[in-house]
Parts: sequence; structure tokens; C-alpha cells
Amino acid sequence: MPDCFIALGSNLDDPGKHLNEAAHRLSRHPAITLGKSSSQFLTAPVGSSAGNPFLNAAVQIHTDLEPLALLEVTQEIESDLGRTRKQHWGPRTIDLDIIFYGDQTVDHPRLQIPHEACWYRRFVLDPLVEIASDVIHPSRHCTVEEMHCRIRQIPLLVALAGGNASTQRNIINALPSSFNGLEMKQWETMPDELKSEQSIVAWLGRSPEAITAESRIEDLPRSIRLDVSQVGDDVVSFLHDVIHSAIG
Ligand code: ATP
Ligand code: CA
Ligand code: CA
Repeated sequence: MPDCFIALGSNLDDPGKHLNEAAHRLSRHPAITLGKSSSQFLTAPVGSSAGNPFLNAAVQIHTDLEPLALLEVTQEIESDLGRTRKQHWGPRTIDLDIIFYGDQTVDHPRLQIPHEACWYRRFVLDPLVEIASDVIHPSRHCTVEEMHCRIRQIPLLVALAGGNASTQRNIINALPSSFNGLEMKQWETMPDELKSEQSIVAWLGRSPEAITAESRIEDLPRSIRLDVSQVGDDVVSFLHDVIHSAIG
């Protein structure tokens, strides 16, 4: 039976009660056994419409349910606990994200596993590292503990390549003034390997083997590469939210 990890978040009404109730409902499901549970963390809301501070936690479950069937269960629990989707990233009574499903990867229109943003969000990693420090991210090939360490290093490094010069300039002008402890590095030339990518490519976080002043872009590890190809025009505000969630 695969070992799965679910991230829980709430910032409406009585968040602690919603987190406990959601975990309880998972445990009551006949095809789910609840494993370890993390502590609950009070975290800063990310995004302009997110509302109050959040309470976040993570749980481990064992289940026979296939990934999409598990998503149905988590979404049913969300709606039973009063989750409405008026606003993207808006306030919510409960949010249940499937972070890992064993070592499987899932790429489906309704479900991506591992959760796309799990590797840089403090509000996911702070709880998760308590119960899953040795678990390996199946496509980034590093442990939860390594992901957690990387984004906690100060200054947080954000390295940019690609896009056009004015987009890079906008990012460099806008972001460092919004955050303490942010270091930005940019490459003006793209290696052939990345030339087909029209948009900005970003790397986030420093790892021992990774980025120094002398690094070549070709040597940056894939494990900390951020996919911004789907973001469209608003790369600056996307990166702002990403960095906010990484700095915590
Ligand atoms: P984020 O995913 O950036 O944390 P969110 O949790 O606020 O944002 P939701 O409105 O809760 O986003 O979910 C939007 C959709 O994401 C869901 O309808 C679901 O189909 C899809 N989804 C994709 N991958 C996952 C996953 N691993 N866990 C939960 N939902 C997922
Ligand atoms: Ca979420
Ligand atoms: Ca969600």
C-alpha cells in the first residue's frame, strides 16, 4: 500500500478544528489508514486575496485508493467542511493537497503528483519535514529534508535565465525591494539546451553543489528549477508569491 502525504491548510472560522476534523475524516474512510501527523504551524498568507494567517499541517496516510479516487475523497471532505472556491488562493475552511503518492508521479488534468509547489513552500515543508524528512521527491530526486534546508538558507537565491531582457529587468527591479534576504542572479545568454524555452527559467534556493558567483547556467541542478512556462505575462507577481511562500 503506498505511503501518501497530504498537506492541510485552513484560515477561516476555527482553523485548528478544521485541520483536526479533516484528519479525522480521512482516518474514518474505510480504505484509508492514518499514519503520522505533524504539528500545526501558523503561517503567513500568500497572495493578495488569501486573507488571515493560515494554520498548516501534514499527515501521512496509507491507502488502496488510486490517486484520482483519493482526490475525490479529499475534495468531498473539503466540501463537507464548507470549502467554497470563490477566489483562486482565497480564504478557505480547509484545503487538502496530495503531496506524494508513494513514489508515483501523476500528470493528469485534475491531478499532479507530487504537488507542483511542494518543494519551495515553507507552509508545506515545515510540517512535512516533521513526518517525512527522508522521503524522496520522485522527480526532483532529493529528500524533503534537503528541500526544506535549501529554501531556508539566507540569502535565498533566485537565479534567472531566458525570457527577454525587459522581463528580466522588471523582475530584478521589482523583487529584491519586496523581501529581505533575497539574492538575485541572472544570465544573459542561454545555453543551447534551454534555447527552445521561450519564457524565463528560474532556480530557487541554494544547495551546496549549486550556485556560486562562478556557476555556469549549464551546471544548475534540475532539482531546484522552477517551471514558469505556464505563467503567461505576470511572471513578476508569480515569482513574488513563490518567493513569499519560500521565505515564509
Ligand atoms: P495550489 O494548488 O497552488 O496550492 P489551491 O490549493 O488553492 O492552489 P485548489 O482550488 O484547492 O487550489 O485546487 C485546484 C485544483 O487543483 C483542484 O480542483 C485539483 O483538481 C487540482 N490538483 C492538481 N494536483 C493536485 C494535488 N496534488 N492535490 C490536490 N489538488 C490538486
Ligand atoms: Ca493548496
Ligand atoms: Ca488544493
